[in-house]
Amino acid sequence: MVFNLGSNPSDFSSGDRSDQESVKVLILGSGPAGLSAALYAARADLSPVVLSGMELGGQVSLTFAVENYPGFPDGIGGLDLVDLFRKQAERFGARIEYDSAAETDLSQRPFRVKTQNGKLYLAETLIVTTGASALHLNVPGEKEFTGRGVSYCATCDGWFFKGKEVIVVGGGDSALEEGLFLTRYADSVTIVHRRDQLRAGPLLTKRALENPKVNLMLNTVVTEIKGDGTVQAVCLWDKQSGKKIERGVDGVFIFIGHSPNTDLFKGQLEMDERGYLQVDQLMHTSVPGVFAAGEVADPFFRQVITSAGMGAAAAIQAGHFLDEHSSG
Ligand code: NAP
Repeated sequence: MVFNLGSNPSDFSSGDRSDQESVKVLILGSGPAGLSAALYAARADLSPVVLSGMELGGQVSLTFAVENYPGFPDGIGGLDLVDLFRKQAERFGARIEYDSAAETDLSQRPFRVKTQNGKLYLAETLIVTTGASALHLNVPGEKEFTGRGVSYCATCDGWFFKGKEVIVVGGGDSALEEGLFLTRYADSVTIVHRRDQLRAGPLLTKRALENPKVNLMLNTVVTEIKGDGTVQAVCLWDKQSGKKIERGVDGVFIFIGHSPNTDLFKGQLEMDERGYLQVDQLMHTSVPGVFAAGEVADPFFRQVITSAGMGAAAAIQAGHFLDEHSSG
């Protein structure tokens, strides 16, 4: 990997410097990667500070049940798992700040991170675990009806669709997992997928196909979401027949993948063409002293366990980096 020093995106010398803190390890994000990094850095006596971001726990906190994280044979709620991660990291001295990074300057060490609450952190090392956000369909009506029938989170909004009819857009594991969750509430859940084959794995596919409330519409594209205050219908295009139909629904749940949260690092850290941070096997980004872990740098696995593992690895490497570069 080529190591480039980032460019200076902003003047960090101006503004009120009274609210300023120097830290050895600053962790951006509080999902499984961030909280695992915090645990490892805390146990290495590096007093890490975690900026939680918008939501403590990130995406996993919106997951109803996590069934594939070892140690929990009966599964565990996403929020409960996050809470255990948090408690374990805090027990060893990690500090979690309910704040988000607003600007970063990675052009020199210590790295500078301004937060939304106006604090300035001077960080010897930085671990980026800012995760990924749900992709949007970008069809007419989607934006207008978000929160009024259009949703990206079944756990958050499923309850509102008791006895109703919903569609789920997507054909991957997320679409099927969330669609199955919605059968607790909705009378009917129709999975609308653009291709003739689901992308999801065999276990989830079998569960979905066996569920009497789940219907499948393959080769079908959502072209518009309609309503009057709330969602009332979707326009669908059947790719095989070319037919366009309008179908009455109460809710549209969209699970078509994710995009990494890397806007803060544009022009400063190397990314792939989709915006995922480039890391080597040791979690190094293109700037020495800046590490990345979890979904912000992982378009492949996107599992709680892989993110947690990457977070632990990043913290171990941050410790080595500090050993090698400490001025004392
Ligand atoms: P994904 O695997 O990338 O699937 C996204 C789905 O959305 C695909 O079926 C894709 O269609 C469809 N899609 C993408 N853009 C679209 C568009 N503009 N319009 C309509 N459809 C669109 O994403 P994911 O389901 O979120 O899963 C991501 C990763 O997390 C995967 O590795 C998955 O295994 C993992 N995951 C695992 C679990 C679990 O183990 N329980 C649960 C959730 C996620 P195409 O198929 O045509 O590309």
